[in-house]
Parts: sequence; C-alpha cells; structure tokens
Amino acid sequence: MKKHNFFAGPSVLPDYTVEETAKAIMDFNGTGISLMCMSHRDKSFDAVMNRAVELFKQVLDIPSGYSVIFLGGGASLQFAMVPMNLLRSKAFYVNTGTWANKAAKEAKLFGEVDDHVSSKEANYTYIPKGFEIPKDCDYMHITTNNTIYGTEILEDYNSPIPVVADMSSDIFSRPLDVSKYGLIYGGAQKNLACAGVTFVIVKDELLGKVDRAIPTMLNYQTHIDKNSMFNTPPVVPIFAGVKTLEWIIQNGGVKEMEKRAIEKSTKLYDEIDRNKLFKGTVQKDSRSRMSVCFVMNEEYKDLEAKFLDFVKARDMVGLKGHRSVGGFRASLYNALPMESVDALVQAMKDFEKEN
Ligand SMILES: *Cc1c(COP(=O)(O)O)cnc(C)c1O
Repeated sequence: MKKHNFFAGPSVLPDYTVEETAKAIMDFNGTGISLMCMSHRDKSFDAVMNRAVELFKQVLDIPSGYSVIFLGGGASLQFAMVPMNLLRSKAFYVNTGTWANKAAKEAKLFGEVDDHVSSKEANYTYIPKGFEIPKDCDYMHITTNNTIYGTEILEDYNSPIPVVADMSSDIFSRPLDVSKYGLIYGGAQKNLACAGVTFVIVKDELLGKVDRAIPTMLNYQTHIDKNSMFNTPPVVPIFAGVKTLEWIIQNGGVKEMEKRAIEKSTKLYDEIDRNKLFKGTVQKDSRSRMSVCFVMNEEYKDLEAKFLDFVKARDMVGLKGHRSVGGFRASLYNALPMESVDALVQAMKDFEKEN
C-alpha cells in the first residue's frame, strides 16, 4: 500500500513525476537508451535542459533580465557561491534558524555580515517583522521557509538592496514577484525533483561586480554562458524537475498550489489548536504552510513515542520532528494530497479519544 509521505526532504513528488522519470530511465523518449546512459551532449537532452529553463520562467513568471541555471552541490553550496559572486564588502542576513545561520557562516568568509535581525532569542519561533533593511549592504539574504522550525516568510520584500532567497522548501508553493529578488536558489529535493540538482534564478546585472578571483565552477557566469552544461549536469533530477513543472501547470499553476497549501495547512493547524493533546511550536502569524511543526502539551509529553507508533500503523511516514526541535513535523509539499492531511487529522482525533 502507498504511504502517506510527510518526509521533509527528499520527500513526496507527484506520481506523474515518478512514473515519467521511471519510464525515461528505462527508455528515454523511444530512443532505446536509458536517460541515465545518454550523453548530455545529445540533442534530445539539450531539449530537456531548454524545457527546464522555459518551464521555470513560465511557472514563476520570471521577467527578462534573469537567468535560470541548474547546478550540483545542493543549497548548501549556494551558501558559499552567493557571497563569492555577490559580496563586495557587507551583506545583511536575516537569522531565522539553522539554514540561515549556515548561509551567514559562509558569507563571513568573504566579507562583513550584519545578522542582528534574528529570532534566535525565542528559538526561532517567529519571523522578525518591521525591521529596517540596511542600505549599505550589497544584498539581503532570507530563508523563506524555515524547514526545521516551521516558520515561513510569505511576502516579497520591497527592499532597497537586492534580495537573495533560499527557497529550498517552499518554491512553487505560491506566486512570486520575481522582480523583487536578485537571486533565488534551492535544492530540488523538497518541492521539485529527486536530490542532485540545485536551481538558481539570478538577475544578470548583479554579476561580475566583485574583485575576487572566482573558481570557474563556482562562477554563476560560467553556467549561464554554457546553459548549465559547462560540465555534466545531473540529468535525471533535471528531467524529473521538468515533469514536476508540467504537473504544476496541469494542476493550475502556482496560484492553485498556494490555494491547496492554504487548505492543507489550515486544516492541520486547526486540529493542532483544537486537540487537547497537541500544540503548535511557533507564533501563529509566522506559521509555515509547508512545514507544520507541533509537539505534545506538557501533561501528555510521554505519549509522543506512542503517537508516532500510532500514525505509523496507519501508513504515515516522516512525522518525527527534526532532532533540534523534537515533537512532530508534517511536511505538506505540493505533491502531498489532501487525503494524507485528512488521514493525519483523523489519527490525531482518534488518538485523543484513546488517551
Ligand atoms: C533542505 C534545505 C537546505 C539544504 O539543502 P541541501 O540541498 O541538502 O544542501 C537548505 N535550506 C533549506 C531552507 C532547506 O530546507
């Protein structure tokens, strides 16, 4: 039987993506060759790469003047590539948790970092609001969905300096005003494809302004100039990403993804707030639609392991919270069907009756 997949990443993908990718791995487009065994220099793979770029632009309505590239190394390599390519003297990093910290740590290798805006003192349970964006910085870095803590930035900032966003775990879950960003990046393995590829959307005019020498492979311009084929690209995850983007379009685009994300997360948060056993872990105005974190109320804390067994018996996987927060985390990515949320909500109700 199919499981309800709440894993944080790698995570649930549309059946369409998995099935089409499996077919292409057996026989790519009737060529008699597996996608895994085909030269990336072959014309038919060229078409896949071009389609990936084209679909990114279409689905996110990316204006002209931006490039879309596909790289290796995960979002974690972007923590270093971003400052290497963009940081001249000082950058502003909004500190909303583990990933934001890891990004800031790499930036400090290349220049000064202003990271005074933070929710650290409250264990990252809210998104800082109403702060002033320092104009003397080269860019501002944000982590839109804080996968570990369950907070999310749902606004496109009006910023006097370029905004760089790690959107690893909420890309394609709402319409974006891309023109308000200088650079958007993320690992594919949350809302796009299998692990192995990282997407970068970058405003071209921001590049080429730093004095330092940048290794060829770590220079965005290299990959823009070679259409992400300077070296061998991760062909299978790029193909899978194309299929997910097709699925998003077939299902009504990012506007519909947003509607579903609101419906799914509202249903689950409503149950967390209603149920006497559970409570949410972050401020209500900062709650993530993608990563729903919750714990058991103090008086029921010893039931945590029992609840995990309870949901496991009902074919739900991936609900254990991140080790740094504990409790539970339900990742409600685009491909997670409403039935999975219904199953979890029902399990919470039934568990409450039994305990
Ligand atoms: C998962 C995740 C990362 C790490 O991605 P890798 O591709 O494993 O390097 C970074 N940032 C956020 C917000 C994430 O959710």
